[in-house]
Amino acid sequence: MSFEHVLVVGAGQMGGGIAQVIASSGRRVSLHDAAPGATERGLETMRKSLERLVAKGAEVDPDDVLSRVEPVGDLVQADLMVEAVVEDAEVKKDIFRRADDVLQPAAILASNTSSIPISSLAAATGRPDKVIGMHFFNPVQLMALVEVVSTPQTSEETRAAVVELAEELGKTPAEANDFPGFVSNRILMPYINEAVWALHERVAEPEAIDTIAKLGFNHPMGPLALADLIGLDTCVAILEVLRDGFGDSRYEPCPLLREHVAAGRLGRKSGQGFYPYS
Ligand code: NAD
Repeated sequence: MSFEHVLVVGAGQMGGGIAQVIASSGRRVSLHDAAPGATERGLETMRKSLERLVAKGAEVDPDDVLSRVEPVGDLVQADLMVEAVVEDAEVKKDIFRRADDVLQPAAILASNTSSIPISSLAAATGRPDKVIGMHFFNPVQLMALVEVVSTPQTSEETRAAVVELAEELGKTPAEANDFPGFVSNRILMPYINEAVWALHERVAEPEAIDTIAKLGFNHPMGPLALADLIGLDTCVAILEVLRDGFGDSRYEPCPLLREHVAAGRLGRKSGQGFYPYS
C-alpha cells in the first residue's frame, strides 16, 4: 500500500470526508485544522457518517476507522499531504510553504482546491515535481470522482502515484491540466451563478429553479441546493478565481451570492443558505 501515513490539513466538510475515506482504506491519517475545536467536530461528523454507512449495510467498523485518525496541532511528517483548507490562495500557499519544510523530501503535496492554479501552490515549495491537485467531490464518502490536476512540472511518478491512490480509495480519477477551475468548476460555477441570477432577477422561486434543473436536466439536485451543499463562501471564492484567472467579468459572482455570504448564510454548513437546514 502506498502512502501509509497521510496528513490531511483542514477538517471542514471536505477535509473530514477525505480523512474518513483515507482511514477507511487502512491508512493512518493525521488531521490538522487551525480553528479551535474543528478537528473534534470533524471526528464527530466522521463518526455520524460512518454510522449512517453501517445502517445502510456497509461492512465498516467506525471505531476501527476512527482509531486511525489522529488530530494534530500542527503540520507533521507524512508520506502525503492532502490540503483542504478554505479556498484562499494565500492561506494555501502558506501551508504549502510550511509543508515543504516539515514533510520528508519524498512526500507528495496535494491540494483539494476547487479552482486555484496548482502551479501557484507548487511555486511556494522547493519540490514542484511533487505538487498536484487531488480534487475530491462532496460528500467525499459517496462521490466517485477525483479530478487529478497536473502542472507542467508535476512528475510522471507523482501523477501515477496519485491516480493509483484514488483508485485504491475506490474512486474514479479523471485527469485535467492546470487551468483556473480545472474542468469541473469551469463548467459548474457559471451554471450555479446563472441560477442565482435567475433568483436575483425573480425569474422564479428557489424551489422552481431547482425543480426545473432536477426534472428538466435529470440532475440529482438543483443548482441552488448544490450551492448550499458546496458552501456559498466557497462558490464566491471559486468564481473570483475564474474571473481573475481568465480576466473575464462573466464570472463575477451574482450580488445575491455575495449578500448571503456577507450575512453569514453560507449554506448547509451554517444552517441557512438559499434554504434553511436544521
Ligand atoms: P470548510 O469551510 O468546511 O472547511 C475549511 C476548513 O479549513 C475549516 O475547518 C477551517 O478552520 C480550516 N482552515 C482555514 N485556514 C486554515 C489553516 N491556515 N490551517 C489549517 N486549517 C485551516 O470548507 P470545505 O468545503 O471543506 O472546502 C475546503 C477546500 O475544499 C476548499 O479549497 C474548497 O474549494 C475545496 N472543495 C470544496 C468542495 C465543496 O463542495 N465544499 C468540493 C471540492 C473541493
